[in-house]
Amino acid sequence: MPITNTTDLSALLQHMLAQCQPLYRSGKVADYIPALAQVAPQQAAVAVATLDGRLHSAGAAQQSFSLQSISKIFGLVMAMNRLGDELWQRVNMEPSGQPFNSIVQLEWEQGIPRNPVINAGAIVVADVLVSHYSASKTAFLTFLRRLTAEEAIYADQQVYLSELEHGNRNAALAYLMKSFGNIEAEVPQVLEHYFHQCATAINCEQLARSLLFLANRGVQPHSNEQVCSRRDAHRVNAILSTSGMYDQSGEFAFKVGLPAKSGVGGAIVAIVPQFGVITAWSPPLNRFGNSVVAMQLIQQLADELGLSLF
Ligand code: GLN
Repeated sequence: MPITNTTDLSALLQHMLAQCQPLYRSGKVADYIPALAQVAPQQAAVAVATLDGRLHSAGAAQQSFSLQSISKIFGLVMAMNRLGDELWQRVNMEPSGQPFNSIVQLEWEQGIPRNPVINAGAIVVADVLVSHYSASKTAFLTFLRRLTAEEAIYADQQVYLSELEHGNRNAALAYLMKSFGNIEAEVPQVLEHYFHQCATAINCEQLARSLLFLANRGVQPHSNEQVCSRRDAHRVNAILSTSGMYDQSGEFAFKVGLPAKSGVGGAIVAIVPQFGVITAWSPPLNRFGNSVVAMQLIQQLADELGLSLF
């Protein structure tokens, strides 16, 4: 990997962050979850965690934000570990080409979601967790605490309650899938788990460290724990490459070329196999639900360091 000089990387992150300032105005903070609409828009951070244990960051990298759809990665890994290949009978591995909360495709395709990182797929994953853990919300937080090596990881109650109150579209997805027999537990319980994991509060530095195992064939470098099999780490990265940025995944592969996942809290993570994890955060989103500034930061960094896998 080209970067060996740590001072250079920190200086580069600072420089990129300063250049992004004018972009705040070209996005809009998510407001379909009212608690997220209260977040101040003009904030940004970027962090890079590497497999050798180094961490570089710039901006508000210790400021917590809402994990939102990035939580789908952790839920997926837990469900893959619990259910094995059976999971792939209930959820597919194809890009959807539709917005993350779209309903139309789901009826045509008999209640089988296109992939586990659109909302419908993540709700199936939540059903697996609710059905296989006696306390799935706690199990999710425990998993994340282990991966970040930090105890202070919680769900933000205000965001959780706000999602519960305004979750009609996700409820529609869940009931439609239940009608096709693809949800086992009771829908309200599944939605509670899903909203709770989305409401996890985390910062850029914690998030970058937590996902290092995906850049390291399933092994978390700081603990040496085999978090998932090498094959599953590859599979998660494959899904993130084709679907992690929703219907902007093609453009992201074209411009950046890394497995990545966004959330409507404004964060994006990108996995750089054999090197590390990049996280960026800034609340204003484009029309696909991806952070404008975070996209720009990751694209620029990948460009500068020549990180594209393609
Ligand atoms: N909790 C959000 C939802 O269900 C997650 C969406 C996202 O981050 N893209 O709509």
